[in-house]
Amino acid sequence: TTTTLAPDTVLFDLIRQEKERQTHGIELIASENYVSEQVMRAQGSILTNKYAEGLPGKRYYGGCEIVDQVEQLAIDRAKELFGVEWVNVQPHSGAQANAAVMLAILNPGDKILGFDLSHGGHLTHGSPVNFSGKLYKPSFYGVEPETGLIDWEKVKETARREQPKLIICGASAYSRDWDYKALREAADEVGALLLADISHPSGLIAKGLLNNPFEHCHIVTTTTHKTLRGPRGGLILLGKDFENPFGLKTPKGEPRMMSALLDSGVFPGTQGGPLEHVIGGKAVAFGEALTDTYADYTRQVIRNAQAMATAFTERGYQIISGGTDNHMMLIDLRSKNLTGKLAENTLIKADITINKNMVPFDDKSPFVTSGMRIGSAAVTTRGLVETDMTRIVELIDDVLIHHADEAHLSRVRGQVNEWMRAFPLFA
Ligand code: PLP
Repeated sequence: TTTTLAPDTVLFDLIRQEKERQTHGIELIASENYVSEQVMRAQGSILTNKYAEGLPGKRYYGGCEIVDQVEQLAIDRAKELFGVEWVNVQPHSGAQANAAVMLAILNPGDKILGFDLSHGGHLTHGSPVNFSGKLYKPSFYGVEPETGLIDWEKVKETARREQPKLIICGASAYSRDWDYKALREAADEVGALLLADISHPSGLIAKGLLNNPFEHCHIVTTTTHKTLRGPRGGLILLGKDFENPFGLKTPKGEPRMMSALLDSGVFPGTQGGPLEHVIGGKAVAFGEALTDTYADYTRQVIRNAQAMATAFTERGYQIISGGTDNHMMLIDLRSKNLTGKLAENTLIKADITINKNMVPFDDKSPFVTSGMRIGSAAVTTRGLVETDMTRIVELIDDVLIHHADEAHLSRVRGQVNEWMRAFPLFA
């Protein structure tokens, strides 16, 4: 039986090493977070054994009575959390959620308009190396060189010129809020659908700390593992407009509710069996996100990001757009004569994890970059507050100034490890 199998010491030793790494260092990658023990317990559970193609109550397999309840719990909690009328909790990831939406509402060759990858957009919003840029005809809007901000009137002009069928908003590296109302006006003017990909700030949006995309966007997608602090995965949500305002049809030519189209975009469109163990983890995370403790957490995430932005600015770092409204910021290192690659590779020697990132109008390649992206979601879960953010920025500055001094870097690593011991992560 499976209980008599030899323990896989190789794999479990690697997990032990990764746990040490996560525990000893300062995690500033804007897309990462630490999930709770009970999210991990759900993910590592026997739910992984079950096939459940279809939806709760309408499955292609027997024995789904319990996983139906698991998935329904995730659905009900997600609806309550975001205040929406419909959700599909099955996308395996954020990229899968976007693929399912595009498959459901577009035909190959249709025009899409997204936020430029090199200005902070995501690969799935039309990049030529991604399905979205290969199957559809992408065009892009970006930020203004002087301000680092998106000019909503210019987005409207681009939409008028390009006449897309889908406008995508949302980003992987944009520290300011989105004007969904203006974007909806742009979409209505050209007869496009509006998709908001709120993967990064979805936890902050759920708690009402940023503009509400559900009032204006036809469709919303998100990952579940960034500020939302759940297992790795995706969601598709509908606030309003779910009655298919454009008369989209099934492959057989039948008009469909938007929700049914999107369900079929996930399965059978782009996925097979749902990951019920991950959906169980999503249910747990949504339950956690419905609490006041999580609401306090999201407020602290923003306060911490703003404290870091202030401290960086005081030390002469240039933050794109001059600050942040959410959990992250993008820093242009050119004024410090540094590259993103050097910053990432140096900081890791002090057990501080960030990622290099293109900045708008970057003159360096994506492998080098002129920027670093920094986020506060993970350190806030760890229990760090504003004064700690100031200290983190001091450490980062110190490391970057002494980037060629290996002995110094290893001394800072010692300080970081000692400091983080005061913030235990796992039982
Ligand atoms: N959309 C945005 C805006 C993202 O930032 C990301 C991940 O970084 C994704 C989609 C893709 O999510 P995943 O990595 O889960 O496929």
